[in-house]
Amino acid sequence: AVVVGRRVKSRRKWRKVVNVLRELEEGCDTPVGRLKQVVDAMAVEMHAGLASEGGSKLKMLLTFVDNLPNGTERGTYYALHLGGTNFRVLRVHLNGQRSSVLEHDVERQPIPEHLMTSTSEELFDFIASSLKEFIAKEGDGSNISTNRRELGFTFSFPVKQMSVSSGILIKWTKGFSVVNMVGRDVAACLQEALARKGLDVHVAALVNDTVGTLALGHYHDPDTVAAIIIGTGTNACYLERIDAIIKCQGLLTASGRMVVNMEWGNFWSSHLPRTSYDIDLDAESPNPNDQGFEKMISGMYLGDIVRRVILRMSMESDMFELISPKLKIPFILRTPLMAAMHEDNSPDLREVARILKEVFEIPEVPMKARKIVVKVCDVVTRRAARLAAAGIVGILKKIGRDGSGGITGGRGRSNTKMRRTVVAIEGGLYSSYSLFSEYLHEALNEILGEEIAKHVIIKVTEDGSGIGTALLAASYSS
Ligand code: BGC
Ligand code: MG
Repeated sequence: AVVVGRRVKSRRKWRKVVNVLRELEEGCDTPVGRLKQVVDAMAVEMHAGLASEGGSKLKMLLTFVDNLPNGTERGTYYALHLGGTNFRVLRVHLNGQRSSVLEHDVERQPIPEHLMTSTSEELFDFIASSLKEFIAKEGDGSNISTNRRELGFTFSFPVKQMSVSSGILIKWTKGFSVVNMVGRDVAACLQEALARKGLDVHVAALVNDTVGTLALGHYHDPDTVAAIIIGTGTNACYLERIDAIIKCQGLLTASGRMVVNMEWGNFWSSHLPRTSYDIDLDAESPNPNDQGFEKMISGMYLGDIVRRVILRMSMESDMFELISPKLKIPFILRTPLMAAMHEDNSPDLREVARILKEVFEIPEVPMKARKIVVKVCDVVTRRAARLAAAGIVGILKKIGRDGSGGITGGRGRSNTKMRRTVVAIEGGLYSSYSLFSEYLHEALNEILGEEIAKHVIIKVTEDGSGIGTALLAASYSS
């Protein structure tokens, strides 16, 4: 009788876990119909954000980048890139020929965690020192003709630009909260720190990471019309017609275009599939009611959504035979480890067990539980990738590149030809998480249809946000 009782109990336990999983699947469901609603909402919000200041949660920020590098740039330029997790210093040599391979040196390092919540002086001194060391290493044989060095600053946060080379921080994202920075000119802060270090370096461009990525993408392939970042955070920018930027009447550029930084991480729509886990994550985050799209898509958050689901499962039933206190620690499960569990191909899901032990100190994970954890990762990542795809199509729709409504100018669909359309992409989720990129492409095909999707090319640019910024420094320094 004892054995039977235990079996009943065990069956009941797994039924509870499976119910949590079912509920999650339903909550995260993204059938193509829903994705198309997200596409439409994205396009509508883009219009609204361009129509008036504060017209949408999408800020649709001006960048003052009206010309993208074309290959005629020459000289040596520097870039500093403050991302969400990493900091990079780059030097790029340009010889005026697009066809030759771009030569560059780069140094990467994780951003020391204490700097994310330090003072602006500390943060910018760190940045300036890193550049100083980098330049010191280059030796005397530098081929720079003038003393003064030109630099682009890739700053991966929302900035209200006053010009290509100046702009004020609107808010922090991705867990940063350096005090006294919001409202200040980011380029000026850097320029002052460079002076404190005795460096004769001029900040010629202040650039969002998406804009750097677009610049490099466009440099290599002029059909590039937009750029996406899906890393620690997520965002997109694209080339817009100046007359479509209604909120800035009288804005003129020679090209008639300008790159717009959408800040799509803050996109919101009632069509987004939101679960109780998303609601809790948001409420407990340092920036509640903010960056809603980002919190469903980007690397900073996916692991934590998974953690919340597993915690709930283990509380409703003793799925792991114990409730580890570590399961309650926010952000303890990093997205790369979540991806490693998701992509564990070993027959006994050894990696899953190893990572659960390493991160949560769960000693023995039953096979059933391992499988369920993989499934949770799958549901969360699939939703993220599909929503990102919907966002991309939203942009294509806004600029008339989604293949709808007569692609060459309205002579009907039969004799139309979809133009080759390239979207540059950067960030670990797409480039190092193959199931994420697979799901993203699958969704693009579903939304656009395979015929149209063939003409949409997603191109990874490595270090694009940094190199592209150096290119922009070259275009705008004279
Ligand atoms: C920031 C964007 C940035 C993106 C990707 C977001 O959190 O608001 O400015 O482009 O992360 O790094
Ligand atoms: Mg980044």
